[in-house]
Amino acid sequence: LLHVEDLYQAFGGKVVLDNIDLSVAAGELVTVVGPSGCGKSTLLRIIIGQDRPAGGQVWLDGHQLDTPNRERGVVYQHYSLFPNLTVLDNVLAGHRLRGWPWQKPPAEACELAEHLLAKTGMDRHLEKYPHQLSGGQRQRVAIAQALMQKPRILCMDEPFSALDPGTRETMQLLLLELWEAFGMTVFFVTHDLEEAVYLGTRLVALSPYYTDDRGDGDGVNRGARVVVDRSLRPIGT
Ligand code: ATP
Ligand code: MG
Repeated sequence: LLHVEDLYQAFGGKVVLDNIDLSVAAGELVTVVGPSGCGKSTLLRIIIGQDRPAGGQVWLDGHQLDTPNRERGVVYQHYSLFPNLTVLDNVLAGHRLRGWPWQKPPAEACELAEHLLAKTGMDRHLEKYPHQLSGGQRQRVAIAQALMQKPRILCMDEPFSALDPGTRETMQLLLLELWEAFGMTVFFVTHDLEEAVYLGTRLVALSPYYTDDRGDGDGVNRGARVVVDRSLRPIGT
């Protein structure tokens, strides 16, 4: 489904990612771990088409990607909701309707939004605003919003990191439930190895690669590479 080939990313001469090769098959739940600042979010932003890589290629279903589009839904650590829209309107916004919100969304979009909010357990909160919700509830809405785009691949950047342990566990179970129910493909970034191993069908670890060019014992970061890429369990178990 997704192929990343010889990806390279640098900002102002500082190499962040180098030599990244990755393939994600449909239905996989790939978890990506790595130390803070190693380039996990940078990789995710390239995959969702938000940033252009300095080198290498990203393919989705054989199409080369260079623009953001609906094929990848995103959920971030901090809530990607519009504060001035209700829960229902936030999810409808995920549909990016032409002329919305001035134009009334079609009935089937409303039905899908309500269905997704029921699936995420938010159907009793349709008319509430984000500030009236708990962190976990906001992430439920964010997931529904991302799914509204009917993405080929759901990309999540530390979506549960800001939640308390109990809520986090509930949300992990919800994600697994939705993943199964919708037969989704998920690309999940976390700095928590335990979470990665628990959720993933496949684990990918990034790690910066240092060389001691000056020979003074101080390494120079040559960019993160994939140091682990292994299957954890078969899809559908
Ligand atoms: P964390 O676990 O803390 O979220 P991360 O693995 O997601 O970290 P990134 O956010 O991808 O790390 O950042 C990787 C490196 O790239 C960091 O050193 C960061 O400062 C740098 N970086 C990221 N985006 C930019 C940018 N737009 N311009 C300059 N440097 C950037
Ligand atoms: Mg990050």
